Formats: sequence, C-alpha cells, structure tokens
Amino acid sequence: PSGLREIYIEVPEVKWSDIGGLEEAKQELREIVEYPLKFPDYYEKVGIEPPRGILLFGPPGTGKTMLAKAVATESGANFIAVRGPEILSKWVGESEKAIREIFRKARQYAPAVIFFDEIDAITPMRGAGYDSGVTERVVNQLLAEMDGIEEMQHVAVIAATNRPDIVDPALLRPGRFEKMILVPPPDRDARTEILKVHTSKVPLANDVDLSDLGAKTEGYTGADIAALVREAGLVALREGLRKGIRAEDLKVNWTHFMEAMRKVKPSITQEMTQFYA
Ligand code: ATP
Repeated sequence: PSGLREIYIEVPEVKWSDIGGLEEAKQELREIVEYPLKFPDYYEKVGIEPPRGILLFGPPGTGKTMLAKAVATESGANFIAVRGPEILSKWVGESEKAIREIFRKARQYAPAVIFFDEIDAITPMRGAGYDSGVTERVVNQLLAEMDGIEEMQHVAVIAATNRPDIVDPALLRPGRFEKMILVPPPDRDARTEILKVHTSKVPLANDVDLSDLGAKTEGYTGADIAALVREAGLVALREGLRKGIRAEDLKVNWTHFMEAMRKVKPSITQEMTQFYA
C-alpha cells in the first residue's frame, strides 16, 4: 500500500488557554495565522499579505507543537502534521509526491494548518544516511508548493525545529518560512502558568503554592513540568495506597512535589539558554 494514504487530517483540540506562558508567540500567531484564516477579507481590504510560512524554533518540549495545534483549533482549521524525517524515510522514493499530496489535502480541507515538525531533517546539509539529492528535491518541491499557494489565507504552513542553525537557508528566504518565532524555555511566571494548566484537575493540598513551585523549577520545560506533575501524583498515590487513604481523600502535597523533583530533572542546560538567546 502507498504510504501516501497515511496523511491524517486532524481536528485539533488544543486551546490557547491550554498553553502556559508564551504570550508573545501566541499573539504573533493570532495576527499572522488566526486572523487571516478567520477574516481574510479584512487582510485583502487593507492589502496585507501574511507571511507564507512560519518557523517556530526553541528547545525540545517548550510547546511548539501545542502552539501549532492551538492556532489551528482557534482558527477553526484542520490540522495536518508531518514529521520531517518521515517524509524522507516513510515515503522512500515518493517524498516529492508526498509533499504534493500534503498540500493537495490541505487545500481540499481548507482552512488548514500544515505542521512540519523537525523540518531540519529536510536539509541537504544534513543528509545523514540519506541521498542528499533527495533532500534537495524535497526542499524544492516544498518551496514550489509554498510559492504556488495563491490563497495563503486558507492554508497556513508552520514548521518547527530545535536546530535553527542547520535549517536549509533556502527555506528561510522571503516568501518561504520568512517569519521566525522563538519558543523559549519558560521563565518563572510561565512555569507557574504551566503548572496551573497541568494541575487544574489535580487535588492539590493547601501547602502547594504554585508560584513557589514555579520559582523552584528553573530549567524545567513545559514537557518537564507535565512529567513532574504526573510523577508527584504517582508519589501521592503510592503513599495513599501504602497508608490506606481513601481515593477521595488523596491530595498531592509539597513533599510529593519535592520527591518528584528528585526523579524528574530539568532538561534546559546553560548552553541551551545561550544557543537560543
Ligand atoms: P519537540 O521539539 O520535542 O517536538 P515541542 O516544543 O513541540 O517539543 P510540545 O510537543 O508542544 O513541545 O510539548 C510537549 C508536552 O509538554 C505537551 O504535550 C504539554 O503536555 C507540555 N508542554 C510543553 N509546553 C507547554 C506549555 N507552554 N504549556 C503547557 N504545557 C506544555
């Protein structure tokens, strides 16, 4: 069977409010994707063309995929996610056809957001294990499709990478992924916001101050915080079972979080902070 059938159209459910922090990135995506998709006539009237492609860049686990999904949800758009490495491996020999097919589907299901995760994989400079001729042809096909989108108001193209330094420069020229948005590691306030999102359904004990926890979790990404909250829940659960506490009386307290922090470590390093600065 042809791999091309495996392009999934998703109706995303992530909302802006599910994402803690990242206020600047959200605001930019509203203006360059959501409003043009929702109110194309306004943009036409004032003669503003939104950028054709957007590149989200930042360390792993900081919410790039969530942002792409949220902007689709909030625009009432369909979502098509494709991973860069997949284009080269899953559709061996058919990579260019896969790109054409992705854009065809997007137009068919417009308004739509196409999300290329790990876009850095599609670069002739990398080519590790791949024939660099293939990556070059895929890049060219991608550029041709992007140039060909007349009604950019109806299809938005978002790419993401942890390695902006190795993204093929051809992809970054005007008319392509010309808008770059940094998705930084969360600062203290953002961590507190992310903690609020992830504990919204967790029975917290009174001694848990999320703002204090936000301060203590320096270097934790959104993904780390999600893991931390899960782990703290597990610690509480184990203790509850051991002590015979009833399920409805379970609470996750400060000590549980401190114990979870010994297991779930921050993934942001000093070098990373400098790399994305
Ligand atoms: P990668 O570069 O590894 O693909 P990413 O930047 O795309 O990572 P996401 O997949 O969006 O990261 O985030 C992974 C998970 O981490 C999310 O499903 C969510 O649980 C949590 N997360 C990350 N950032 C945030 C955030 N800002 N607010 C709330 N949750 C977050």
